[in-house]
Amino acid sequence: MKNVVLLGSTGTIGRNTLDVIRRNSGAFRAVGLAAWSNRDLLLAQIREFRPDVVSVGKAEDAANIRRRLVGRKPEILSGPEGAEALAAETKGDIVVSAITGFNGLRPTLAAVKTGKIVALANKESMVAAGALLRREAIRSGAAFVPVDSEHSGVFQCLAGRRADEIRSVTLTASGGPFLRTPLRDMGRKTPAEALAHPRWKMGRKVTIDSATMMNKGLELIEARWLFDLEPGRLRVLIHPQSIVHALVELRDGSVLAQLSLTDMRIPIQYALTHPERRDGILPPLDLAAVGALEFIAPDERRFPLLRTARWALGEKDSAAVAMNAANEVAVEAFIEGKLKFTGIARTIESALAGLRPRRLDSIGDIVEEDRRVREQTRSRIGKRK
Ligand code: MG
Repeated sequence: MKNVVLLGSTGTIGRNTLDVIRRNSGAFRAVGLAAWSNRDLLLAQIREFRPDVVSVGKAEDAANIRRRLVGRKPEILSGPEGAEALAAETKGDIVVSAITGFNGLRPTLAAVKTGKIVALANKESMVAAGALLRREAIRSGAAFVPVDSEHSGVFQCLAGRRADEIRSVTLTASGGPFLRTPLRDMGRKTPAEALAHPRWKMGRKVTIDSATMMNKGLELIEARWLFDLEPGRLRVLIHPQSIVHALVELRDGSVLAQLSLTDMRIPIQYALTHPERRDGILPPLDLAAVGALEFIAPDERRFPLLRTARWALGEKDSAAVAMNAANEVAVEAFIEGKLKFTGIARTIESALAGLRPRRLDSIGDIVEEDRRVREQTRSRIGKRK
């Protein structure tokens, strides 16, 4: 029995993780659950999974949950410190880091410092603090297991291979809902259209990131740190069917691929069971039913943020922190109708113009740089209105 601490239990990855736990009864126990604002779903999860510790955003929601529970109650924490304490102190074998965005960084770092296995779905923490998280993991003995489907694919293809065998690593991308939209129409695309992803059911932030392909840019940086790969070995390939998740090219020209159904419960289950495997909970992949698998080189005129991310990938730490912060602010502004779809890339590009990337050695420096760029980006968007 593995004890699982789940950060971000009410989000898409969190709910899928609990479904994997539910359908593998006897193999896992959810001992800690951290959510933010979805109090009622967290309450239902507490009733079903009976964790020892939970955390929620507001103290009043913690009090509300305490009142509504009968019988044995978990310890109920609140606020950002609550999620951090839950990550650090709850006795678990594995911490699933599935909070969305930069907010996931501090709880993820807290889990890494305790030397646990960290199943990482929160790519933004690796983007903003990859070097720091790697250093802390070496110090504490923590290990990362990827949850992101592409990284899970890379992880499975790389298993046991030496670095000098690898020529390149390719992450596939579905291309999102605007893969074939005429370029001149991109500016008119609404949040509802951007949120209608053709393949994956995901949270809002990652779905918008998928439409701009910033998601793949963030994933390149995530892959660099997760697998200690030189930026020049990382590639992106559009694959609209989302059946092949990653390709690893070996030095002799052989290419390994990982294929599976487009369902996050597959990589989540592998992250939880690694290095073992258990029977899957989904029907088998039927390639004859899928028929054709297409691969397309990404067009940087359509997806300019891929070029931006490639720049950040090769730069010093603050470039990725700034890019991620500007992206989070721009995506929020787009969802709120304050920015056009094409304004997301323009906003990020102007936030990065003139930035002189530098090393950021501490969590304090990273948080400060993130805060500075957010503030600047918000005021820039405000002025354009
Ligand atoms: Mg992904």
